[in-house]
Amino acid sequence: MFTRVYRCFFLTLFLLASPLSFADYSIEQIKGDLYRFIDDRHRSVFLVKEEGILLVDTLNRPAAEWLKAELKARFDKPVKYVVFSHNHSDHIYGAEVFDEPGTTFVAHRLARQDIRMTRAKTVVPDLVFDDQLNLTLGDSEVQLRYHGPNDGRGSISVLFPREQTLFVVDWILVGRMPWRKLWSYDIRGMINSTRDVLQLEFDTFVGGHADVGSKADVERYLAYLEALHGAVVEAIHDGKSLTEMKETIRLDKFSDFRNYEAWLPLNIEGVYERLIEESGMGWRSDL
Ligand SMILES: [Zn+2]
Repeated sequence: MFTRVYRCFFLTLFLLASPLSFADYSIEQIKGDLYRFIDDRHRSVFLVKEEGILLVDTLNRPAAEWLKAELKARFDKPVKYVVFSHNHSDHIYGAEVFDEPGTTFVAHRLARQDIRMTRAKTVVPDLVFDDQLNLTLGDSEVQLRYHGPNDGRGSISVLFPREQTLFVVDWILVGRMPWRKLWSYDIRGMINSTRDVLQLEFDTFVGGHADVGSKADVERYLAYLEALHGAVVEAIHDGKSLTEMKETIRLDKFSDFRNYEAWLPLNIEGVYERLIEESGMGWRSDL
C-alpha cells in the first residue's frame, strides 16, 4: 500500500514539475493574417505581417514559451508589439519571454499602473494610452480602445479593421455565461462597454475565453447582461430576498449559454451584491 502511495506521490510530483504535460495548446487561423492562440480556457490573438508580429496577451510563462517557439517555427518574424488586454495575471504573465530589443509592450495607463503597483510578474509596458491608440503593422492597423471600467483595470477592446475582427477579454463572452459571481466585474461598465463596441465595424468576435462568434452573438450577450441586471433590480424593488431571487429568476432565452443552470444563480448573486454595494439599493428599506 505504501509503495502505491509513494508511486502516486512521485507521479504527482513529476506531473507538477512539468506543466507542459498538462497543457493543451493550439493555434488556429481566424481570418487572413490573424490567428487565435488557445491555452485550455484562455485565448489570445496575434497578427502576422511581413514586418513582424503583433501579439495580444501572453497568458502565462509556459504558454508564452510554447507560443514563441511556434511563432519562430511557423513564421520566423520578430514580435514587434505585445499588447496587454488588461491587468489580470492569468492573461498577461509570461511577457518577459518576448522582452527583446525592438519589441514594444503596450497597455492602457490604468493597467500599467496596476502592474507596477502590484509588482505583477510580467513586463511593465512602455507605451500607454488613455482613450484610443492605433498601431500600424505593415498595411494593417490595429485599434486599441478604452471604454471605461468593465472588468479589472484598464481593460480594452482590440479591433483589427482589415480583418473585421474584435478581440475583448472577460467582459464579452460568446457561448458561455459570464464567470460565476461576476467576480471583479462591473456589471454596468460591462453593459456600457459592450454597447460601445457594438458601434464599431466588425463581423467576427474573438473572446479571451469561450467561442469565436459574430456581431449578432455580441448583441445577444448584451441582451443577456441587460436582462440579468433588469431582473435583479426589479426583484430588489419587489422586496425579494437574495435566496428568492436565485430560486425564481429565469432567463431561459439564454439557456443555450454554457453553464446556464449552474451559474445563473451565481450571476444573480453577483449583480445583487454590486447593486447593494455600489448603488446603495436596499440601504434604506424603511423609506
Ligand atoms: Zn479571464
